[in-house]
Amino acid sequence: MAEQRTDLDAARRRILADVQPTRERARVALRDALGRVLADRIVAPMDLPPFPASAMDGYALRSGDAVGAPPHRFTLAGTSYAGRPASGPVPKGACVRIFTGALVPDGLDAVAIQEDCTHDENGILVHAPVGPGDHVRRAGHDVPAGTPMLDPGRRLTEYDLGWLAACGITSVAVHGCPRIAVFSTGDELVEPGGVLGPGQIFDANRITLSALLAQLPVHVVDLGIVPDDPGAIREALERADHDCQAVVTSGGVSVGEADHVRDVVADVGRLELWKLNLKPGKPLAYGRLRNAAFFGLPGNPVSTVVTALMLVKPALERLCGMEPEAVLAVPAVLRGGIRHQPGREEFQRGTVSSRHGRLEVTVTGDQSSNRLASFSRANCLVRIPKDAGDLMEGAEVQVLLLGRGL
Ligand code: AMP
Ligand code: MG
Repeated sequence: MAEQRTDLDAARRRILADVQPTRERARVALRDALGRVLADRIVAPMDLPPFPASAMDGYALRSGDAVGAPPHRFTLAGTSYAGRPASGPVPKGACVRIFTGALVPDGLDAVAIQEDCTHDENGILVHAPVGPGDHVRRAGHDVPAGTPMLDPGRRLTEYDLGWLAACGITSVAVHGCPRIAVFSTGDELVEPGGVLGPGQIFDANRITLSALLAQLPVHVVDLGIVPDDPGAIREALERADHDCQAVVTSGGVSVGEADHVRDVVADVGRLELWKLNLKPGKPLAYGRLRNAAFFGLPGNPVSTVVTALMLVKPALERLCGMEPEAVLAVPAVLRGGIRHQPGREEFQRGTVSSRHGRLEVTVTGDQSSNRLASFSRANCLVRIPKDAGDLMEGAEVQVLLLGRGL
């Protein structure tokens, strides 16, 4: 019977359809809100800026007093500093010395920049034309009161925080941070720092997975290394299910005799999906325990990371209440060829750089799925479409930039 393998896009759609946003909510102070996911729409509580303000140092005036050819003569009727407005009405034909950020007095509608002005004993001469609104930031020009600023599902950035603070907002309603359990499976695995027995290796996947997940607004719950023993795997999965909204494991989902994870998942909950039409990352498993979503990633470290980036990250973004970020693919010119047999989508690790105004990418040597070096030296993934054959030197390929939306 032909093996059933799911294409990456189809797997992503199925997983995203299964994962629901957390219903937990919290109100957090703005200073604790970086990277949190908004639960409610934020509507501007006030005009920003709150008053018409000068965008330049110069002289605030009525543009209607500056008709005809320059120069225009004005008398001086006071000074408006940032935070210390000029007082009293400004008579016709008069101007006010003004500085950046200062309130433009009532009735005035333009600022002549000081570089265009001179003064003598009779007042100010403006040597350039001045039109209504020149160099004035009108009230609400950044955002008017009552208009939407940020939508639910938005992951707050540093820049959002500044924008909200400028509107006097001190706290926001956000989604709770889901708890995500992580463990590695394999009798060969030893905690780094321990002593390697014959045939043993140090656990590389858990620290990378935990670090990748920690970039999301989640709590990572580290359940350590679990041996290739169905009882021990069951215990770890049940603990994770009790305590967490998702569990991410590596290893033990392939077809070997020591690969028990799938059977235990099918027993505790249900297995939704197994085997991707993807290289690296074929033996990925997705399912559901009684409560928690389950991601069984292949054990080869490169496969673990590729499937974590392509599937776990968007699924956990959804769990956190976000619309999963679209993967940013950019075109680059391939240096050195890539051999590829049509049939499976593939991601190779590459180094992309800008040369002569365009991006060029070279893959990072031997692409075996155990080679951590291929990732450590990479700053992008090169996408090789399912139906592509060998890619020649100079071909245009799509690259996904690591660390920027990935
Ligand atoms: P598995 O998916 O369990 O068949 O493992 C595939 C390969 O990945 C084997 O060579 C494992 O030794 C290796 N491997 C599994 N888990 C890890 C891990 N946590 N760190 C490093 N290598 C691993
Ligand atoms: Mg194993």
